[in-house]
Amino acid sequence: MAKRVRDTEKARRAARHPDRPSEECRALAGTSKPVVDRARCEGKKDCVDVCPEGVFEVRRMDDADFAALGFFAKLKSRAHGRLSAYTPNAAACRSCGLCVVACPEKAITLVSSTSGR
Ligand code: SF4
Ligand code: SF4
Repeated sequence: MAKRVRDTEKARRAARHPDRPSEECRALAGTSKPVVDRARCEGKKDCVDVCPEGVFEVRRMDDADFAALGFFAKLKSRAHGRLSAYTPNAAACRSCGLCVVACPEKAITLVSSTSGR
């Protein structure tokens, strides 16, 4: 069963967003998955708040991911406590697109689950 969104007003705003890449949660779970650009993510959890499937968690960035950032992205990440969104439940994604338009940093893209990213 799908988990409830944590912030229904944010989810409503995202659902009305004209750039939302999908309009309904009709895709089979696992058709697509969200990919987070860690150089952009500021760890403010809008994705966690709107995802109806509980795909995201925000936590301290892994050392290897931090090491892969460029100089300015490292500075930015430190300024935000090295927090970043991860997708431990990516297999539950139903491609609704809410996270894509809710992210204020435009850090999320949906990719095909078979793309290998
Ligand atoms: S991916 Fe976007 S919405 Fe999610 S924590 Fe990062 S900046 Fe916030
Ligand atoms: S598109 Fe984003 S908000 Fe929608 S189910 Fe997938 S991860 Fe969650």
